[in-house]
Amino acid sequence: MAIVIDGKAIASEVRNEVRINVEKWTSLGHPPPFLAVVLVGDNPASASYVRGKIKASHDAGIDGETYSFDATISEKDLLDFIRKLNDRPNVNGILVQLPLPDHIDASNVIATLDPNKDVDGLHTVNAGRLATDLPGFVPCTPAGIVELLSRSNIPTQGKHAVIIGRSNLVGRPLGSLLLRKDVNATVTICHSRTQNLPDICQQADILIAAIGRAHFVTADMIKPGATVIDVGINRVNDPSKKRGYRLTGDVDYEAVSDIAGYITPVPGGVGPMTIALLLNNTLIAATRNF
Ligand code: NAP
Repeated sequence: MAIVIDGKAIASEVRNEVRINVEKWTSLGHPPPFLAVVLVGDNPASASYVRGKIKASHDAGIDGETYSFDATISEKDLLDFIRKLNDRPNVNGILVQLPLPDHIDASNVIATLDPNKDVDGLHTVNAGRLATDLPGFVPCTPAGIVELLSRSNIPTQGKHAVIIGRSNLVGRPLGSLLLRKDVNATVTICHSRTQNLPDICQQADILIAAIGRAHFVTADMIKPGATVIDVGINRVNDPSKKRGYRLTGDVDYEAVSDIAGYITPVPGGVGPMTIALLLNNTLIAATRNF
C-alpha cells in the first residue's frame, strides 16, 4: 500500500517558515510584503481560490488585497489597472486569477505584468529564466511539487520523471524544474498526441498527472513502487454531497495506491502546496531583486 504524501502538513511547514521569515523581514523595519490579487467575474471556484490565497497571506503576515472586477470589464481597462499595480511601490506581488472571461486575452494580461511582481511565474521573462536555469519566479504548482518530493525524501537524482500534461502553468515549467542540477531527474513530458502513453508511464519512477480528467491514470500504468503525484482537480457528480459534487484528481487513487510507493491525495496533496509556494514567492518579491 502506497505511503500517502500529506500535502496539507508539508504546506503548513512551508507556510510557517514563510511566516517566520516575514517576521524577520518586518522586524528590520520593512513593511510587510503586499500581494495584490485580481479577480474578474463571478466564477465561484475562482472566488473561493482567491479567498483561500488572501487568508493564507494574512496568516503568514503578508498584506493581501483582492481587486474584483465585473466580468464585463474591457481588456484595456484591466491592462490599465495592472499597469497601475505595477507602478505602486508598495505592491510586491500581483496575481491575476485565471481563467479570465473569453473577451480578455490572458496572454496580454500576463505580458503586462511587471516580471518582478509576477509571483505566479507566468510572464515569458520568468518562463525564459526557468527554461534557461536562471533565477526568477517559478510557477507555484510545479515549485510546490518539487518541494513535496524533496521534503518527503523521494530521490530524484537520475530518476525517470514522466509528466502527463504540457501546460504553461504546470507541465512545461515542472519539466524545467525537474531538470535543474539540484534535482537531476530524467524528464519525459507527455500530452494528448503521445503514443503508447501507458508504456511510457510504466517506466516512470515518478509519475505526475496534470491533465484535468478524473481517474485518467489507472493502476496498469504504474511501475510498482513508483511515486505518483496527482495535480488534477476535477468535479464529479456526487448526490451524497450537499453541493452535489466532489473533487477528485486525475489518478484512480484506490487502485493506484495498491501499486505505487508514494501517492498524493486530492484534495490535500498538491493544492495546499500551490498556496504555500505563492506565499513564498510573495516574500521573495518583497525581499529580492533578480
Ligand atoms: P490544461 O492547460 O488543460 O492542460 C492539460 C494537459 O493535459 C494538456 O497538455 C493536454 O495535452 C493533456 N492531455 C489532455 N488529454 C490528454 C490525454 N488523453 N492524454 C495525454 N495528455 C492529455 O490543464 P492545466 O492547467 O495544466 O491543469 C491540469 C489539471 O491540474 C487540471 O485539473 C487543473 O484543475 C489542475 N491544477 C491543479 C492545481 C493545483 O494547485 N492542484 C494547479 C493548476 C492546475 P495537449 O497539450 O496535447 O492538449
